Formats: sequence, structure tokens, C-alpha cells
Amino acid sequence: MKLSTLLVRAGINREDVTGAVSMPIYQSATFIHRGLGLSTGFDYSRTQNPTRFQLEKAITQLEGGVDSLAFSSGMAAITAVFMLFESGDHIIISDDLYGGTYRIVNQIFSKYQLNFSCVDITDIESVENAIRPNTKAIFIETPTNPMMKIADVKRIVDICRRNNLLCIFDNTFLSAYLFQPLKIGVDIVIESATKYLSGHNDLLAGIVSTSKQDIAEKLRFIQNSTGAVLSPNDSWLLLRGLKTLGVRMDRQQDNAQKIAQWLLCRPEISKVLYPGLPHHPGHNILKELANGFGAMISFEVVDIALVKRILENLEIISFAESLGGVESLITYPIEQTHKDIPDDLKKKIGLNDRILRLSVGIEDSDDLIMDLEHALLGGPQP
Ligand SMILES: *Cc1c(COP(=O)(O)O)cnc(C)c1O
Repeated sequence: MKLSTLLVRAGINREDVTGAVSMPIYQSATFIHRGLGLSTGFDYSRTQNPTRFQLEKAITQLEGGVDSLAFSSGMAAITAVFMLFESGDHIIISDDLYGGTYRIVNQIFSKYQLNFSCVDITDIESVENAIRPNTKAIFIETPTNPMMKIADVKRIVDICRRNNLLCIFDNTFLSAYLFQPLKIGVDIVIESATKYLSGHNDLLAGIVSTSKQDIAEKLRFIQNSTGAVLSPNDSWLLLRGLKTLGVRMDRQQDNAQKIAQWLLCRPEISKVLYPGLPHHPGHNILKELANGFGAMISFEVVDIALVKRILENLEIISFAESLGGVESLITYPIEQTHKDIPDDLKKKIGLNDRILRLSVGIEDSDDLIMDLEHALLGGPQP
């Protein structure tokens, strides 16, 4: 079955006695035991809930792993994954990473003696050189947030294999529709389902999928013990969102390609970071790895005064954090998502105060381009 078909079938349960096409929301904390030792398979909703179960099953099919777990946010999912490690362990992370991941690593897990090294994941040699005797994993994103760097994921998987490290991949930017990292040997894939998977900027959710049975069991134990599970209602909303992931993503990346091309020709823009552009240094790697380039564009304006002008004059595109939904959003990473990144690291990765990040939605591309043009010029032109 093709992915777009699999997506539409998310949550359809042929065994449901009522024949409901839409998975019911089992808004129940607990489940009756019919007798001693007789469980329906559901005991308590922190451990498992029927609506969440269908969602997790659908995600596992999509990612091609052995199991998936749904959490109450992307950060809850990432937290559970870091809880697989023990104090003294060392993990290599990308130097260009979602700000919240950077914050949790540096300000929370460092307190429990987990050690981290930040490396440029596009430089395979520096990834290899960062390995120490206590290194246990490599954690990456591709494209990176917000600099849109592309890692050669196959080579990173290969380094992990040779050194007995877990390969952990945050797939939020491409989503399981465009890229299934487990299929090329990644061990654990994380997604903030707040973004593309749900797609409507109306819920927070996180997903972890794995191709390894022993890791799945450990993650189930961690989730049940710590409790950051996705609610039945949000599980249902996410199942509904998943059904249209394919059509949304097709449209969003189509729009993104057009907008990126348009931005390239504007005198006010000094850099356009979009892997769908042929001159992007990661274009060919991503072309080989994934089924598309996604719909996230970062761009640099020539003058900082343009930042304020753009953000205050856009009328269709909203100035708001987050990404991946049907509505186009623009963020100012240095002040928002990446505020907690130290200045020297910002400098190293090239994140300056002239960079804006655009999450392209499903609106008409002509309207989006007109909105950007008006904003660049300081308002609608007579
Ligand atoms: C948003 C995001 C997260 C965190 O997810 P939440 O659902 O906001 O907790 C993690 N990684 C990436 C790449 C993200 O964009």
C-alpha cells in the first residue's frame, strides 16, 4: 500500500463491533476487569488507551518500525528517549538543533550527568572524532532547525553501526510522509506531532517509533512510569490530522518551492535556505534519501530593519512560533525558538538577527507571495 493510502486508513478498525469509520474517543481513565486475571487488554489509560493504541498502530505502519508511542508533546517524547541513558553516558548532538532540545540537554539532563557534544553533522569526520569510549548515541535532525542543513543520514547510520551507538533522528521537519528513517537503519525516530502530523496548529503531541523490540519495551516502561501520555481526545485529533498529511504536505512543499524561487530573485533577501533549491549543499543528499524537500524555508534579509517591517506588515502569514500546519507561519528564531542557544554557538552555525523562518501552509501560493511582497515593501502598494 502506498503511504497516502495508508494515511487515510489511519485508525480504521475493521474489528470494531459497531463498524465506526472514525475511531471512537475512549474517554475513560480505567477499564473494568471481568474477573480475576481477565483484562480486556486495557487496564488504565496511562498504560494504554484504545484510541491511543489505534494511533500508535497507524504510526508504526507508517514509519515501518516495531512499535510507536504517543506522548503529550514533542518534548515529552524527547525526554523519554533521553531517559534510556544513564549518568556518565555521552551523546553526540547536532550543533543546529531545535532550541527546546538544546535547552533540555544543557539545563536538565546535564544535571543528571549525561554528557553531550555538539557537532556539525554535515561534517562526517567531526562526528566520528567526537566519539568517546562512553558515547552511546548520536541525535540528529535533518533538515536542521533553523539553518536547514542536511546530514548524510546513511553515513551517520553507518558510523552508529560500526561504533555500536544508537542513531536517534528527530524527523519533525520532513514527517513520516516524506522520510522514514527507520527504513535506512535509524534506531529511534522522534516527531513533534504538533507540527506536520496533526497539521492544524490545534494540539500538542509527540511520537517515538523504533525498529528495535528491546528499545520499545524500555520506552513503554519509561512512558508508563513517567506518564506523559497523549490524551484520548488528542489521540483522536491526531488520527484525523494524519489522514490528510499526504495532501497537505504535497501542497505545502509545492508552495514552498515557488516561494523559495521567488525569494531568490528579491534584492532585499541575501540568502534563501531551502533544500529544494538545486544549489543548496544538501539538495542531492535529500533527493536520494527522501520523497521531497519539505515546506520549511529560512531566509536572511539584507538589513535588520527589514525584519520588523516584514513581521509587522504580513497579513496572511502569521507571526507565530511553531510550524507544519495548514496556516503559514513566520518566526524570528534568534528571539523565539532559539533564544536559549549561547551566542558563540549561534555564531558558529550562522544564526544571526537577520534570519527569519517560514513554515509554508496550504494557502494559494500567489496570495502568499503577494503577502511577502507587500510586507517587504512596508504594506500594500497603491
Ligand atoms: C517543535 C519541535 C519539537 C518539540 O515539540 P513540542 O511538540 O513543541 O513539544 C522538537 N523538535 C523539533 C524539530 C520541533 O520543531
